[in-house]
Amino acid sequence: MNGNDTAYEERLMTYVGAVLQERTSAADPVNVPMIRHWVEAMELTSTVHLDPDAARATGRSGVVAPAAMTQAWVMRGYAATVRPTAGKGLFGDLVDLLAEGGYTSVVATDSDLELARELVPGDRVSVEEVVESISPEKQTGLGAGRFVTTLKTYRDGSGDVVATQRWRTLRFRPQAEPEAPKAPRPRPALNRDNAFWFEAAREHRLVIQRCSACGVLRHPPGPMCPRCRSLTWDTVEACGRASLYSWVVAHHPRHPAFDAPYVVAVVELEEGTRLITNLVDLAPDELEIGLPLRLRWVDADPDLSLPVFGPATSQED
Ligand code: ZN
Repeated sequence: MNGNDTAYEERLMTYVGAVLQERTSAADPVNVPMIRHWVEAMELTSTVHLDPDAARATGRSGVVAPAAMTQAWVMRGYAATVRPTAGKGLFGDLVDLLAEGGYTSVVATDSDLELARELVPGDRVSVEEVVESISPEKQTGLGAGRFVTTLKTYRDGSGDVVATQRWRTLRFRPQAEPEAPKAPRPRPALNRDNAFWFEAAREHRLVIQRCSACGVLRHPPGPMCPRCRSLTWDTVEACGRASLYSWVVAHHPRHPAFDAPYVVAVVELEEGTRLITNLVDLAPDELEIGLPLRLRWVDADPDLSLPVFGPATSQED
C-alpha cells in the first residue's frame, strides 16, 4: 500500500484528535521520597526540591518537584510489566495503520514540555493524551515518513492544567540497505611457525610439515616434532586425495564472509594428517564419515588462497 493515496490519507487523518489515553490519575500524589530518588539519580544540585527553607528563600511556599519529573508521576512503572493494559488500544491501531502505509520504522525526534506551575507534594496529577497531528509524508535522511505528534495534558486535582508535553516521532519507510560488498575472509594470524604453510597455499600447494630427523608428518604447523622433539623440518606436498573424518554444519554465528549454512570439516589426507577446512559442492545431507574427497582451492582474495575439499569424481584417478 502506498502511504500517499487519498483513501489511506483519509483513514490516517481520522486519528488526528483521537484520545489515546483518557484522563488517568497518578497512583500516588507528588511526594518527597520519590523526589529524593529523582534528585539523587539525576544528581540535581538545586536545593529547592528537598530543603523547605531553601525553597522558601526563593519565594516558594515549600519544596517543589523537578520539572522533568512531571511525566514520572503518572508512569505505571513496574505495574506496566506485571499487569499490562488489555489489548493494544487506539495507539496500537494507529501504529498498525502506519505500518500498512509502509511506515514500519520509528524514531523519536523531540519532546516539548511546558509547565504552567511547579508541582508540590500532595498534588494529585492526572494525564490525558491525544493525537495532535500527523504530518504529510516528508522526505527525511532516514527515508520518507510522517511526523506523529501527540499531546499529553497534565492536570492537578482541581482539573487545572499544570503542564503539557508534545511528543513527536517520525514513522518512516526504511530505505533499502545497499548491498554490502562481500566481506573478506578472516585473515589467518601468521607467524614464523605457520607462514610457510600459507605461502605454499598461495601457490595452490597443500604442504605438510615433516620432521627431518624421524620423518613423521604433522599438522597444524609447529616448531617442534611431537615425536622426537627435533626442531628441524621440511615439507612434502599432499597429493590432494582425502576422506571425511568429521564435520559440523555451521548456521550461527553468521559471518559476512560466509554463506550460511556451510560445512566445517576435519579431513584426513591420504598422507595421514588431518586438516580443518571447508567442503564445497557438497550438501550437508550428502556427507558421511569416510566420504572420498579431493582438494580444491579458494582464492579468497589476492593475498589469501585456502585449500577446501569437494567430492571425488570418477574422472579423477
Ligand atoms: Zn621427529
